[in-house]
Amino acid sequence: MAAADLSLIAYGDVVAGCERCSLAQTRTQVVFGSGSSHADLMFVGEAPGFHEDKQGIPFVGAAGQLLSNLLAEIGLSREDVYIANVLKCRPPGNRDPLPEEIEACEGHLFRQIELIQPRVVATLGNFATKLLSGKPTGITRVHGQEQEVVLGGRSVLLYPLFHPAAALYTPRTLDVLKADFARLPDLLGRPKKEPPAPEPQPAPADAQPVQLGLF
Ligand code: URA
Repeated sequence: MAAADLSLIAYGDVVAGCERCSLAQTRTQVVFGSGSSHADLMFVGEAPGFHEDKQGIPFVGAAGQLLSNLLAEIGLSREDVYIANVLKCRPPGNRDPLPEEIEACEGHLFRQIELIQPRVVATLGNFATKLLSGKPTGITRVHGQEQEVVLGGRSVLLYPLFHPAAALYTPRTLDVLKADFARLPDLLGRPKKEPPAPEPQPAPADAQPVQLGLF
């Protein structure tokens, strides 16, 4: 097993006992994430729902089935990508995440991104998009617009998508989600933007001259 797998598994073990917010009291279990620990493509949803909380795996309900179908349409399976959520624990009654829950939990997501080092992070819906873009602009305005950002200390392509749950009962949203999804292979093939090389530094004034050893 590669070091990246072990680090991610070890981190998952730590997060399994997380008590950073009050969702620890109502969850069945922490839903850390699933898929390849060295995936080029990572999805970030909102929070576990009823089925995810029971099974401990993200996106296992109807929205998850749609996500699997969309992946299949671009020749990928759930094992090729990594899937996580903004919150690792289910909010009671599937209510929206609270700001203090997001704040308590975000470090887990950033650490996952740092360990997995994906090339593309596709955010599913408003909560993941706003958190990872650092901007309040909603998904309706930014979906399908990739942007290079620094996450987990590295440059990644952030790609906001509609949440699959929003597309389940709205054919127009499903069409848009499918069209945005179809661009993923192209985004994954884009060369990585390397950070600019550091400028050569002049030698400090008091540096010893190099002895050429001629005499
Ligand atoms: N299931 C998840 O794991 N996350 C969501 O955002 C929705 C359903």
